[in-house]
Amino acid sequence: MSLNYHYMQLPREVIVGKGTLCRIPEVAKRLGLKGKALVMSDQQCYELAGKAVSGFLEQSGLTVDFIQVKTMTMTDILAVEKQIKTLQPQVLFGVGGGTIIDSAKVSSGKLKIPFISVPTTVSHDGIASPLASIKGSDKPFSVMSQAPLAIIADTQVIAKGPWRFVISGCGDIISKYTAVKDWQLAYMENGEYYGGYAASLALMSAKLVTENAELIVYRQDEGLRVLLEALISCGVAMSIAGSSRPCSGSEHLFSPALDIINTKHAMHGEQCGVGSILVAYLQKSNWQRIKTTLKQLGAPTTAAELGIQDTDVVKALEMAPKIRPERYTILHKLNLDTEACKKTAKATGIIN
Ligand SMILES: [Zn+2]
Repeated sequence: MSLNYHYMQLPREVIVGKGTLCRIPEVAKRLGLKGKALVMSDQQCYELAGKAVSGFLEQSGLTVDFIQVKTMTMTDILAVEKQIKTLQPQVLFGVGGGTIIDSAKVSSGKLKIPFISVPTTVSHDGIASPLASIKGSDKPFSVMSQAPLAIIADTQVIAKGPWRFVISGCGDIISKYTAVKDWQLAYMENGEYYGGYAASLALMSAKLVTENAELIVYRQDEGLRVLLEALISCGVAMSIAGSSRPCSGSEHLFSPALDIINTKHAMHGEQCGVGSILVAYLQKSNWQRIKTTLKQLGAPTTAAELGIQDTDVVKALEMAPKIRPERYTILHKLNLDTEACKKTAKATGIIN
C-alpha cells in the first residue's frame, strides 16, 4: 500500500536529569492533566519511584490509582486493560523497566489514552519508542503501539538500579551502527522506505555512546545522561520512521533467535551488542570498533560472556533471518549456511 503522507507520533515533553521526578507537577500543569491518573509499576519500582510519582500527581490535584504488573504476556495485557476500563484514568504512568513501560504502552494504546514513561532502568530503547514486545505473542520482536506523551527520566532513580541494565542499554545503542546499514541495504536493494533524518539520529546516538564510553564506565551522572538521551533519541528516530527500522537490523533478529534457542539467555542489549559485532563483520564494516567499545564498557563480547554455548551463537545466526523473513537485512542477502555462520563467529572471536 502506498501512502502520500507520513505519520509521526512524537513525545511532547522529555525531561532527563537528576531529581526530575519533582518536575511532575509542572509537567501535569503544562499537559493539562486532570481527573484520574493510573500508575503502573511492580512492587520494587513502586518503592523506587512509583510512590513519589503518585505523591507528585496527588499534589497536582489528580486522583491516583495503582496497578501492579510483573510480566508482559497477552493474559497480563488483557487483565491490565480490564482494570483500566474499570478505573477509567485520563492518563497512564508506566513506572519501571522495559516490561512495565511496554505494558503501559500497549494497554493505553489499545484503549486510546495517553501514557507517560517514567523509566527506572535503561536496559533498552523501548523506554521512549512507540514499539513494544509482548511475550508469548506470535511475533518474537517489537510491534508498533503508541509513543509516550512525555518521558520523565530521573538519573538518581536509574543509578540505583543494577549496573548490568545500564550496560545492556549501551549494547542496544551501539547496535544501531549495523541496524542503519541494514536499513540502507533494504532501501538500495529492495526499494524500501528510508528516512535519512531518522537514520542520522540513530547513528548519532551510537556515536555519542561510543565517544562517551569512559564517562559511562566511571558511572558518572553525565555518562548516564548521555545514555538516556541516546535511548530517547532512538525512540524518537523510530517515531519519525514509523517503524523500528532505524534501530533494529539483523542484530535485532539474532537476539530473539538466541532467546528461542537458549531460555537462559542474556539481556536484550547484551545480545544485540554481540549480534552487532557479527553483523558488522558480514557488512564488511568496522566490527573491531564495536567490539572494542563493548569491551571497554564491560559488556559481553563472547558466547561465554553471554553465558551460552558456542553452538547457540551459530544456530542463532542461522535462524535470525527466519525470525522476520519480510525484513530484508544482510543475513537475508547472504543466506548463510551453518559453516559460514561458524566461520563468522570464529573470525570475530565470539566463539573459539
Ligand atoms: Zn533493541
